[in-house]
Amino acid sequence: MRKILFGVVGGILLHTSLSAQTGHPIRCGVPQMHQNIIVKHPEYAEKLRAQRASLQGVADFYRQYKANAGSERTTAVSAIPVIFHIILDSAQFVNMGGTTGIAKRCDSQIAVLNHDFNRENADSFKIPSGWKSLYGNSGIRFGLARKDASGNCSPGYEVKIIAGNTLTDAGYDGGDEFTSAKVTGSGLAPWDNSKYYNVWCVNFTGSSSDLLGITVCKSDVVAGWNSSYEVGVVMLYTLLGSTGPTNIPPAGTGSWYNPFNLGRTLTHETGHFFEIWHPSGDDGGACPWSSGFDDGLSDTPPQADYTYGNPTYTIAGGTIHDGCEFNAASEKQPVGIACLSYMDYTDDNAMHLFTTMEAEVMAGMTLVPTGSGGITSGTGSIGENYSLTQNPSLLVACPLGVSSTIETRSGLSIYPNPTTGEITITVEGAGEQLNDIAIVNILGQTVKTVSCGKEYYSIDLSGMSKGIYFVKCNFASGSVTRKILLQ
Ligand SMILES: [Zn+2]
Repeated sequence: MRKILFGVVGGILLHTSLSAQTGHPIRCGVPQMHQNIIVKHPEYAEKLRAQRASLQGVADFYRQYKANAGSERTTAVSAIPVIFHIILDSAQFVNMGGTTGIAKRCDSQIAVLNHDFNRENADSFKIPSGWKSLYGNSGIRFGLARKDASGNCSPGYEVKIIAGNTLTDAGYDGGDEFTSAKVTGSGLAPWDNSKYYNVWCVNFTGSSSDLLGITVCKSDVVAGWNSSYEVGVVMLYTLLGSTGPTNIPPAGTGSWYNPFNLGRTLTHETGHFFEIWHPSGDDGGACPWSSGFDDGLSDTPPQADYTYGNPTYTIAGGTIHDGCEFNAASEKQPVGIACLSYMDYTDDNAMHLFTTMEAEVMAGMTLVPTGSGGITSGTGSIGENYSLTQNPSLLVACPLGVSSTIETRSGLSIYPNPTTGEITITVEGAGEQLNDIAIVNILGQTVKTVSCGKEYYSIDLSGMSKGIYFVKCNFASGSVTRKILLQ
């Protein structure tokens, strides 16, 4: 719904408490974060209104740009390198399946993003007929960051093991955006945000323990107000990725895991990162024509409030309506509310699309050169994320056997090498135990795994075919792979 009245002057954008409805977590901390900024800087409310009011122009521009792409597009775009910064205590790390489990989740999360942002989601058959024509395709793609800014190899994630819940932020309802996760020491510093999309996976605690994710996008950061904010997403670690029905929720996550286990927490938050908002306007249930707010887009109908759970409608055309359904004829919800958008608050399995204009805004912010179209007001500027799409070399993985940045361990030895049978692995000075060891053949097949739990270990390889193998040593915070020859 494009019609934005923004009738409240001077400040308070949000009308009601944002505390969780009974039985529901807070899917998204962005409205509360905005509210916190407004309390400190009332002018921010006007900035938010201007940002949303500018979005229709971005969508319209990108539609035209795409239509003229043959003549206007001058440079290619590649997938955006994503780096996952994972900050857990040792028990949480074990529950994630160690580095093997984390790698699996990162892979599946990238797949979810690529499906959801490119009309490739397998559950699109659930889109009601009235919404089929609004099934948007942003064209934005993602890949694991396989090189750091210095050219060192990376698996696309880095892990920091912390002692218990030592991220000490006041939390999203205390006025910050989880800074402690984003700085060296308590957390992990961002990689160059002009080249990488930074995602932090943490365990939200205390008054933030009901939160699933929170995002800072470029237009959220205002010099002099909150310039310490770092763009990117912080999300609940248990919701990283979607590895299918065999993906066992880590201990302690309760029932919240199950309706949010398809990787769409990051789909939703990434929508914010590309400057789009909740269709209901974060106004506590009001309609746009009665002092409510909106997402600034004309293909999401006016909507009163967030939608929770898994609303039912018939695929043949049934729709969901709410209190903003009827006003003037032009303000109806002809195809129902956009509760099936990734930007509403439903369960993961009830979300099926970005609308056409949601997708066009995100593409306009990302896939065209900065400054295109002359919309560079700083309220969400065309091409603001373009630099993220210009680094294809960062997506190229190192050959198997080459240590990654996070995998560097001085003092790790494997001997003898070459060997005729037994090898011994020792770690000196690293202060970490070997969790487990995998022996991988030159076809990439794991042929032997052992659990260790100490600083050294010996493995008998006699009986295995002679030849080259890779010994992958997994630690709490990464792994090292070395090549050996069995003679
Ligand atoms: Zn949100």
